[in-house]
Amino acid sequence: MAGAPDESGPGSAAGEQLQQQHVACQVFPERLAQGNPQQGFLSSFFTNNQKCQLMLLKTLQTNPYVKLLLDAMKHSGCAVNKERHFSCEDCDGNVSGGFDASTSQIVLCQNNIGSQAHMNRVVTHELIHAFDHCRAHVHWFTDVRHLACSEVRAANLSGDCSLVNEIFRLHFGLKQHHQTCVRDRAILSILAVRNISKEVAQKAVDEVFESCFNDHEPFGRIPHNKTYARYAHRDFQNRDRYYSNI
Ligand SMILES: [Zn+2]
Repeated sequence: MAGAPDESGPGSAAGEQLQQQHVACQVFPERLAQGNPQQGFLSSFFTNNQKCQLMLLKTLQTNPYVKLLLDAMKHSGCAVNKERHFSCEDCDGNVSGGFDASTSQIVLCQNNIGSQAHMNRVVTHELIHAFDHCRAHVHWFTDVRHLACSEVRAANLSGDCSLVNEIFRLHFGLKQHHQTCVRDRAILSILAVRNISKEVAQKAVDEVFESCFNDHEPFGRIPHNKTYARYAHRDFQNRDRYYSNI
């Protein structure tokens, strides 16, 4: 995504425009129907849109996962601009966000993101798709394995599975739980945006799982919590410095 405004994204035919908005995790059937009246509560001081913007700003400035991803995007020539590459919108259902490859925008569902922690997770997850889009020619629509790979990486590296993982480790000591969680979430994410059977989605995830689960870029490790993410960010900055001196 980001930083490549002249890049039309995978398959820019007009007929695909709508479908392209379904890329990555979520579906935005209503995104074209602008102008829906906001269902704000009289009692709330800020609108959902203002809250979304404020939480996004805090996420971009303070979350170590996001700070690392933003640095990595910049390093790969895809600098991210808050105004250009993020959009707070109302979404249908319980969708939290998505990456729109056709516009290189991350959509944040302002009606469904209710806390700073949730915003942190959604922005991190979507930035991993954006990072994959930036560094490689991802065939989001023609090869379901490409989508599967990015969903495995997003579930593995964004912390989506970490909280659950911690609880399970504490209570049941299941070492494999993280992998199981990543696989299940990747399959669900694919099914949310592709009209394919669960079996086809499972097959795609299984085919790419080993290599994509072990691809930890740009973190260099699985960042199980913010401390890990901070270390990963420090390592990335050192690596960046090292390479820029060669
Ligand atoms: Zn996703």
